[in-house]
Amino acid sequence: MSDYADVIIVGGGMVGLALACALRHTGLRIVIIERGEPPVRLSLGRDCRVSAIVMGNVRILQGLGVWEHLKDDAGPMCMMKIWDNQEQGGIRFDASEIEEEALGYLIENSCTQAAMHKALMDSDDVEFCSPAEISAIDWYGKDGKQATVTLADGRVLTTPLIIGADGGRSWVREQAGINCWQRDYEQKGVVVNVRTELPHRGIAFQRFLPTGPLAFLPLTDNICSIVWSAENTEADRLLAMSDDEFLNALNLTFGPVLGRVTEAGDRAAFPLKGQLAKHMVRERVALVGDAAHCIHPLAGLGVNLGLRDAMVLAQEIADAKRFDEDWGELSVLDRYMKQRMPDVLSVMGSMEGLHRIFTTNIPGLKEMRGLGMRLVGNSGAIKHLLMRNSTGLSLPVPKQIRK
Ligand SMILES: Cc1cc2nc3c(=O)[nH]c(=O)nc-3n(C[C@H](O)[C@H](O)[C@H](O)COP(=O)(O)OP(=O)(O)OC[C@H]3O[C@@H](n4cnc5c(N)ncnc54)[C@H](O)[C@@H]3O)c2cc1C
Repeated sequence: MSDYADVIIVGGGMVGLALACALRHTGLRIVIIERGEPPVRLSLGRDCRVSAIVMGNVRILQGLGVWEHLKDDAGPMCMMKIWDNQEQGGIRFDASEIEEEALGYLIENSCTQAAMHKALMDSDDVEFCSPAEISAIDWYGKDGKQATVTLADGRVLTTPLIIGADGGRSWVREQAGINCWQRDYEQKGVVVNVRTELPHRGIAFQRFLPTGPLAFLPLTDNICSIVWSAENTEADRLLAMSDDEFLNALNLTFGPVLGRVTEAGDRAAFPLKGQLAKHMVRERVALVGDAAHCIHPLAGLGVNLGLRDAMVLAQEIADAKRFDEDWGELSVLDRYMKQRMPDVLSVMGSMEGLHRIFTTNIPGLKEMRGLGMRLVGNSGAIKHLLMRNSTGLSLPVPKQIRK
């Protein structure tokens, strides 16, 4: 390992790897430090961590050369049906209404990470260190122009820029002294892959219960990935149930839309929280993905936001290199933050609003919610706009992948 890197990315999750993919042809030397083992693609249906990647970001993955390693593992989501517990209103989003083959694709996180890792492996400019960790950072290490990083195994690297892609509990963020705004929903998302009697036909189902949404997301043939948001004690109860008890509870709550749920894999639960770093950047450091913002998985947009962070940051770094600027300087990194904040704030704000609207028990508001869903459902123009926004298709195509 050389003792200099143009960029050090801490965290080799989906967002850190996407950033490295976007930087790999810029001539910059990239080092990724990942605490865990290198990603391995689990056999299909085995990873209960699944993400819906919206169509705008599928285009990004295609442009990065990742999609070719991934497309056979991805399940198209052609339609989404949403309804609430009161059965007062329902809404349907159909990809054909925006002339697209799908609204997005459902992909197990291990498949996405393994595909990105594979795409990076043929690049001489990218070094993937794993399992590895940083034990100390000196932000003003070399002439105040480069940070010095000491790894747990004693190796020392200098770099103009450290990127925190190390998830919601970001160590890099903490070392940079960046605080967060936090919102604890006091809920957990129980995730599990299930087999249903009837095929899902590429339809995602989202049922809003008073405690939060229960989503059935189409994976392969008769397999769906479910995310069941529930208050902490209820989520713990769902986790502790025997397989038969859990299947009964699930069938009772979801109803017969896909026939009976006949089988469920291993269950896991993730605490649901909203979190936003007060700064996405400081001199010599930038945060991307969950390290910068965690959102409620209600609309499945967390990693989608992170992928867009990665593309914008990669572009700013590449431009700075081209114009002979120091890409670790605050003035350069500020350009990244200014571009990303409107998207991040609008998605976070919408998720908070949706969460409140769908978990309210205030009688008047419940009726308005039903009315609102019917209005959106019947108004072609509003629905079209909503679909293009939520699939990321209304956003500009990142420069790196423009043909
Ligand atoms: C139940 C649930 C369902 C979700 N569904 C969706 C969905 O459908 N669509 C969607 O867009 N999003 C979804 N999300 C959100 C999505 O999972 C996250 O936004 C995404 O995983 C964030 O990716 P990341 O790379 O930023 O962080 P992470 O996935 O957390 O990766 C961080 C990486 O950094 C490594 N790391 C951590 N600390 C260190 C360290 N000190 N040194 C070195 N390495 C370190 C970790 O090992 C890990 O590999 C969901 C989330 C939950 C909880």
